[in-house]
Amino acid sequence: EVHLNLNVRGLPLSATLEINEISNRLIKEGRRVYKLGLGQSPFPVPQPVVEELRANAHQKDYLPVRGLTALQEAVVDYFERTQSLVYRPEHVLVGPGSKELMFILQLVYYGDLVIPTPSWVSYAPQAHIVGHQVRWIPTREDNSWLLTPEELERLCAKDPTKPRIVILNYPNNPTGYSYSDRQLQELAAVARKHRIILLSDEIYGELQFDGGHASIARYYPEGTIISSGLSKWCGAGGWRLGTFIFPKELDWLLEGMAAVASETFTATSAPIQYAAVRAFNGGTRIERYLWQSRRILATLGDYIHQRLVRMGLQLAPPQGGFYLFPDFEPLREKLAARGIGTSPELCKRLLDETGVAILPGTAFGRPEEELTVRLAYVDFDGARALAAAEQVPGGK
Ligand code: PLP
Repeated sequence: EVHLNLNVRGLPLSATLEINEISNRLIKEGRRVYKLGLGQSPFPVPQPVVEELRANAHQKDYLPVRGLTALQEAVVDYFERTQSLVYRPEHVLVGPGSKELMFILQLVYYGDLVIPTPSWVSYAPQAHIVGHQVRWIPTREDNSWLLTPEELERLCAKDPTKPRIVILNYPNNPTGYSYSDRQLQELAAVARKHRIILLSDEIYGELQFDGGHASIARYYPEGTIISSGLSKWCGAGGWRLGTFIFPKELDWLLEGMAAVASETFTATSAPIQYAAVRAFNGGTRIERYLWQSRRILATLGDYIHQRLVRMGLQLAPPQGGFYLFPDFEPLREKLAARGIGTSPELCKRLLDETGVAILPGTAFGRPEEELTVRLAYVDFDGARALAAAEQVPGGK
């Protein structure tokens, strides 16, 4: 007999992790699989950060719940240096991945969760697990899937007193697009008017190709929580280190989350936190690593974009991160002739017939009959690419 919490009954394994497991199984069976499913950084962790981890392998004590003080300070310095945003170290919360912090945020917050679609695979399942209502805001393909101030206003105006958290993610997973400064300012104005709490998921911020990532916290500091971590720009997904930074106005949320953290994960791994100080402090070697990472991803993103356009698809080139979210609608007839009418069918047939593993738009909150898919262009040797990039002249 099964005694599962109702919210968890029937909950499948996260789509991205599942495609990774299927791909690995096929590889074991001897198939060549192009792993464009799981969104994992292709690059190694920068050498100075690895050295710092080695030097701190002996750190064995439980660290403070909110994080190592030196790391909180490094995170604050980082946001001052990169975004001209001023915080205090005690407003930083460190956790074992930003995903875990998001889950705890949902657990402690009382209100709706608003998610523009397409969006990252885990926001909504987390809300379901804790029994929250999810309000979707579908965005438009011809607007590069970006949330508009009008769309946000419309949702808020329907029920103006309702407490809500809105998640913004830019550069975006799965689309690869980001907001301009002006778009952020306009969204910030709506957020302020309706006293929305924004969870600004900026985990790909450092991977914006033009190096000009701006946080919406610049325009709505009092209501924005910035989510970040080492997983994407530092190539350290498996290290599990995420950070939230709160404005003082949201102290009550931070306190609630810290209390839950103290009763659950206690504190993030000590050696990893010591190493993370080095990552957030930056310096020339890390700057160089980031600059080359962006250059490689931009080149690849442009190339794949051009190939998709040549196939007859319509989409703008990506602006950051390592994803593209093409819609195969222009090829619908050709695909229908092969018995493919939905995005899950398209992905299944691609994997079976060509070994290309990608994810259907349904995993990102899009309807099944739409032929959108996400591809993560990360199946290459990142260490070799970085070394090769050093031989190619240009900039810096
Ligand atoms: N947010 C987005 C948009 C992501 O793509 C990911 C990872 O795939 C995460 C958050 C979670 O990152 P982590 O828990 O490794 O910090």
